[in-house]
Amino acid sequence: MTSILNADLHCHSVVSDGTLTPEALAERAAANGVELWSLTDHDEIGGQHRAAAAARAHGMKYLTGTEISVTFAGETVHIVGLGFDPDDAAISQGLYDTRGGRGKRAQEMAEGLAKVGIHGAYEGALRFVGNPELISRTHFARFLVEAGHCRDTSEVFRKFLTEGKPGYVPHRWASLRNAVQWISDAGGLAVIAHPARYRFSANEEFALFTEFKAHGGHGVEVVTGSHSAAEAARYAGTALEFDLLASRGSDFHSPDESHTDLGTLPPLPPTLRPVWEALDGRIVRPA
Ligand code: AMP
Ligand code: MN
Ligand code: MN
Ligand code: MN
Repeated sequence: MTSILNADLHCHSVVSDGTLTPEALAERAAANGVELWSLTDHDEIGGQHRAAAAARAHGMKYLTGTEISVTFAGETVHIVGLGFDPDDAAISQGLYDTRGGRGKRAQEMAEGLAKVGIHGAYEGALRFVGNPELISRTHFARFLVEAGHCRDTSEVFRKFLTEGKPGYVPHRWASLRNAVQWISDAGGLAVIAHPARYRFSANEEFALFTEFKAHGGHGVEVVTGSHSAAEAARYAGTALEFDLLASRGSDFHSPDESHTDLGTLPPLPPTLRPVWEALDGRIVRPA
């Protein structure tokens, strides 16, 4: 049965806000029994060729991946792209543009933190950055933990980095339409990441799924690291209601921070069609 394949189609490396290299992630995924893997760095595909080569070296199948930051109804939504051509010029340019505002945003975050007495946060966060184009809130969180302001990164987000808190800076990311189009035009499938994490009303959520479908989106992440069993069951229902393919991915970032390790999630509900069945021709297979 393909639906019990150990697929993990969501995780992050040092190319975005993870702490492991693509090679170390591949090794960890293989050791945990992952059979089909995807590295989905935020707004970035610079790690794709390394990840595919490392997957091959460990005998895993591979799908190209990314997780695009999108602004929809005033909220940040993440769209995972799977199976697109990693050398496609339009998606590369789109992601480059999406990354573009991060440097200025980070400086403004540091100014906000300085106002509450936390100095040097920009330089501090930079020390945790693996890719200078991809400074994220996660890097600030690691700096604030190291500097002793909080016990762990979740506490940093709660106290400093979410809406209304001193280090939060509103930001406009890619449009839903563009993100779905970059992925689709490059031969991949677009998937709504961790839908239970958005603070949408029922109407806004309905609009998200409806517009996503209208723009050519195909899937929803049903089983993922931040979903409870009840949330997975709820979005299994949404997948059926909107006739969407289902995806499964840990969203692993770091051995020290992530509660869900690569390859350890429950399987997709058998009533759903896995997204990888529709991507068979895009899977990179080991020799
Ligand atoms: P950014 O793209 O810079 O806004 O950073 C978003 C990233 O911050 C997400 O991809 C997560 O890795 C991380 N993040 C968001 N919310 C939390 C939270 N409550 N606790 C820990 N990490 C979080
Ligand atoms: Mn992240
Ligand atoms: Mn995400
Ligand atoms: Mn993610």
